[in-house]
Amino acid sequence: MIKASELKITDIRFADIDGLPKHMILIKVFTNSDIVGYGEVRDASSATYAKMLKSRLIGENPLNVEKLFERIKQFGGHSRQGGGVSGIEIALFDIVGKFYKIPVYQLLGGKYRDRVRIYCDTDVDGKHTGKDMGKALKRRMEDGFTYLKMDLGIEMLLDEPGTLNAPAGMLEDIKKYSMKAICHQSGSIDKSLMFGKNYEIFTVPHYATGIHITEKGLDILENYVREVREEIGYEIPLAIDHFGHVAIEDAIRFARRLEKYNIAWMEDLAPWMLTEHYRKFAKNSCVPLCTGEDIYLAENFEPLLSAGVNVVHPDALTIGGLLQLKKLGALCEKYGVAIALHMAESPIGFMAAIHAAAALKNVLAVEFHSVDHPEWYKLVEPNIRLEDGFFAVPDTPGLGIDSLCEELITRFSKKDCPEPWAPTDEWNGEWSNDRTWS
Ligand SMILES: [Mg+2]
Repeated sequence: MIKASELKITDIRFADIDGLPKHMILIKVFTNSDIVGYGEVRDASSATYAKMLKSRLIGENPLNVEKLFERIKQFGGHSRQGGGVSGIEIALFDIVGKFYKIPVYQLLGGKYRDRVRIYCDTDVDGKHTGKDMGKALKRRMEDGFTYLKMDLGIEMLLDEPGTLNAPAGMLEDIKKYSMKAICHQSGSIDKSLMFGKNYEIFTVPHYATGIHITEKGLDILENYVREVREEIGYEIPLAIDHFGHVAIEDAIRFARRLEKYNIAWMEDLAPWMLTEHYRKFAKNSCVPLCTGEDIYLAENFEPLLSAGVNVVHPDALTIGGLLQLKKLGALCEKYGVAIALHMAESPIGFMAAIHAAAALKNVLAVEFHSVDHPEWYKLVEPNIRLEDGFFAVPDTPGLGIDSLCEELITRFSKKDCPEPWAPTDEWNGEWSNDRTWS
C-alpha cells in the first residue's frame, strides 16, 4: 500500500457521452496507485476546460484538495467554464475518500440526513394545457416524488395573438432561432445555437428583448397554473423555471398573480449577475426567488443573498466543487436562504450533489433530469436507485461509485468528440505565468 505522502496524479482522461439526455463529460484522474478518481465537467460544456488544468496537476498529491483547487481556481469561470475546476475538485475528493476508505460526505463534516429528496424537472412537449402538465406532474407524485418543478413561460404565448408585445421581428426571430434553447429539457444544447444569428438571438438578455406580456397573456399563464394546481392539489411544493427572456417588471406582474398558488420558487428570472433586478423582484413580490446554477465560487452568491433571493440552486459542477458548496452553505445560513441543488449531469455529478446535500444543513432537494432514461441509472456500479423520490446516501468510500459501465459509455459516446478515455498527452506541457499578481 502506497503511503499518503507518496500518492501522485499520473494522468487525466475524459469520455464525452450524449443522449441520456444531455451531453455529459466524464473524468478519470489516475494515480500511482490503483485508485482512480471520478469527476465530471458541467453538462453541455467542453472537456477543454478540464484538459487545460492537467499540466498543473500531474505529479501533485491528490490528497491536498484545497491546495490544488487554489492552484487551478483562476482557470474556472461562470456557468460551463466552472466545469473544469469543479469536476477535478470532485475527482480529488473521490480519491481522498477511496484512499482513506471513507465516504465524501464524511470529509465534508458528516451528514445531516440519511436520504436526500429528489425532484424531477417535468416538461410536456408541444402545445398543451395546464391540465396536461398537471397530469404529468401527478405521475411524478405517483412515482413517489414529493417536490415538483415545471417549465412555464412566454413560449406558451408565442402563437397566441394579443398576448405579447415586442419590437417588430423579435418574436419571429425567437421562434426561428432560439426555440431549441427554450425547449431543451429532453436533450442538450445544440452546437448551432452558439454561432451566427442563433447565437445573437440566444444571448439577448431578458431586459433587452423588449418583450412584454399583455393582460391577456398573463390571464393565459395564470389559468395554466390554476389548472396545474387543480390536478396536483395545493399540498405539494411546485417550482417554476424557464419563464423566458422578458423584463423583470413583467416577471413581477406575473408573480403577483401567482402568490395565491403557493409557488415554491421562480427560477432565473434575470441574468444572475443583475443583482438590482433581483432586489426589485424581491421587494415587489412574495413569490420566492431562486438563482445560482451558473455562479462560480460561493463568494459570488453573497450580493444576491443580500438582495433578497430566497432559494439558491448551485451546481456542484459550476460553483467550484464540494468545498465551495460548504462555503455557500455557511453564507446561506447567515442570510436565511435555502438550497436546492441544480443537477443535470451523469451519475458522477449526481453522486457529488448527493454527498453535498447530505452534508449541507438547509437543503430542500436535488434536481434530476434523467428519470425517463433507464440507461442513465446503469452508467455506474452500483446502479443508481431512487426510492419514493429519495436517494439513500451511501456509506462506501469516496463518491460511492465502484466502477463505470464502459459498455454504455461506448454506446452513448458523443460522435464529434475523441473516443472515450483517449490519451491527453498533448496537454502535458501546457503552461503560462500562473501568478495572478505582480
Ligand atoms: Mg434552471
